[in-house]
Amino acid sequence: MTSLFTKIIARQIPADIVYEDDLAIAFKDIHPAAPFHVLVVPKREIVNIDAMSDDDAALFGHLIATCKKVANAAGHREYRITANVGAAVGQSVFHHHFHVMAGRPFSWPPG
Ligand code: 5GP
Repeated sequence: MTSLFTKIIARQIPADIVYEDDLAIAFKDIHPAAPFHVLVVPKREIVNIDAMSDDDAALFGHLIATCKKVANAAGHREYRITANVGAAVGQSVFHHHFHVMAGRPFSWPPG
């Protein structure tokens, strides 16, 4: 089944896209949990980090570099990168994404 985020990549669903390259796309979260809240998504549908293979390591490095790039481009040098891996810990869209959030204080541990 085509994921919601694949539909955004295909421009079938609108999104506020802030970055895109051959491997990744980044767009603003529709329900931002912080003043800056961007989702960094691989163009290939990977369910979550638990579904990644060793062959995906370079791709995931690229996704982390993209998280830094989009945060820096918005002027943020301090930010939180989060991935929910599975429904029990809060994953609701089953196409991997890193949340990049900034612009307010964050508590630890997350709830
Ligand atoms: P998860 O709960 O899987 O970690 O995060 C999914 C995120 O996707 C949520 O923060 C949610 O607000 C966001 N989201 C869900 N549907 C859409 C959408 O149609 N467009 C955008 N831009 N974000 C979405």
